[in-house]
Amino acid sequence: MGQEVAAAIGVLMLLVACWFVFTSIREGERRAALRLVLLMVPAAFLFFIPLFLHAHAGGLMGWIMTGILIAVVFFILWPDTGRSMEDEGVPDRVDERTVMFSRVELVKGTERFHSYYRMHPEHFQADEQFREYPGLLQSGARFEHPWIFAAAQSTFDTVKLLHQQVDGPLHSTRTKADADKITRFLTEWCRTMGAHSVGITLLKPHHLYTYGGRAHNYGKKTENHHRYAIVFTVEMNYDRVQMAPKSPITLESSARYLHAGEIAVQLALMIRKLGYPARAHIDGNYQVRCPQIARDAGLGELGRMSLLITPTAGPRVRIGVVTTDIPLVITPRKPDSSVIDFCRICKKCADACPSQAIPFDDIKKQFGARQWIINQEKCFTYWCQTGTDCGRCISVCPYAHPDNAMHRMIRFFIRKSSRMRRAALWFDDLIYGRKPSQRPLAPWMNI
Ligand code: SF4
Ligand code: SF4
Repeated sequence: MGQEVAAAIGVLMLLVACWFVFTSIREGERRAALRLVLLMVPAAFLFFIPLFLHAHAGGLMGWIMTGILIAVVFFILWPDTGRSMEDEGVPDRVDERTVMFSRVELVKGTERFHSYYRMHPEHFQADEQFREYPGLLQSGARFEHPWIFAAAQSTFDTVKLLHQQVDGPLHSTRTKADADKITRFLTEWCRTMGAHSVGITLLKPHHLYTYGGRAHNYGKKTENHHRYAIVFTVEMNYDRVQMAPKSPITLESSARYLHAGEIAVQLALMIRKLGYPARAHIDGNYQVRCPQIARDAGLGELGRMSLLITPTAGPRVRIGVVTTDIPLVITPRKPDSSVIDFCRICKKCADACPSQAIPFDDIKKQFGARQWIINQEKCFTYWCQTGTDCGRCISVCPYAHPDNAMHRMIRFFIRKSSRMRRAALWFDDLIYGRKPSQRPLAPWMNI
């Protein structure tokens, strides 16, 4: 009997191996598929060994192997609470003029340039370093690809065309409806337009920049008294993210910024047509810090790389926001300590980051909240060297795998068990590599 039970487990393991290998091939992860075959098939065949032994010895061996396997599986998968979410604190407010996208727009010799470095002399040296390199999507950058750079730049330019629509006059008549129905309608409409996830939270002071840092908003105190923020994510294409840090990553991020911009502007226009104030926050024209709002609206947690980690696409998303006064129902947030716990042990993004901008140390309270903060100067300087927005951290993150049955099952157990988090990380390193290789450009990009 023990022999038959062990053999049945062997067959089950072969079926699981086939499922995993088939899924990996569909994901384009051929190396992972090969490693899965080399690991799982011999492991499955071990369970057929008792069949070839003498009945008594084979039976005993079959039961022992079955017992050990069941014990190990139960030990790893048995739910535990792990470390609970500690007090998260409230992050300090940020002046948008201090973010790199604002600093890169400072022009030497202008009053704005001098006044910024009088205010922040500590940034001058680091900023002089990124200015030595060609810059984002600029000719002469390491990963220059004239066609892709032109496509990405024109996509960013198209987003700029939307800037004039982020806010505007309201319709004189206010259409009344109850908050439940409006929330359901707006959420579903947002999804229909292509949003991956949608949430609503109260707009809090720490969500807002203190002062604007881009274009005509530069140096203006942020005035936004809306009560709510509708926040949504759009998913980035897995294949193009895997080509990071080469140019397709920027092609992809520009396309998602445009997509998020279209949804946000359309949503804000629609709400204003109903007679309620609404302002879209899109690339290059934000009053808000999107990841913090998305976290507070229950769309995910902020991980080691300071980005939003969503439950089904990890950091492989871009975020759009609409702030408004239309009556809405808040999305309850259920903090997920398993993400922070996983980030504590994982550090894969920190290992793979070409500029060493991501911290290796534990999460700690800084600038008001328990958080990891990346070195934005190092990260941006790398972008200016390569001409792309890198995204290598996003591509290697175990949470960024495609949302299919295999990864969904693994994510389910990762949420439940701290031992599974360790086992899954070990397995991820083994199958995909500690520093997964970058995918080559798609054939249509080779022009
Ligand atoms: S790569 Fe690992 S440490 Fe980095 S954000 Fe993803 S899960 Fe967290
Ligand atoms: S985008 Fe690139 S350089 Fe910046 S933190 Fe991520 S991996 Fe590092």
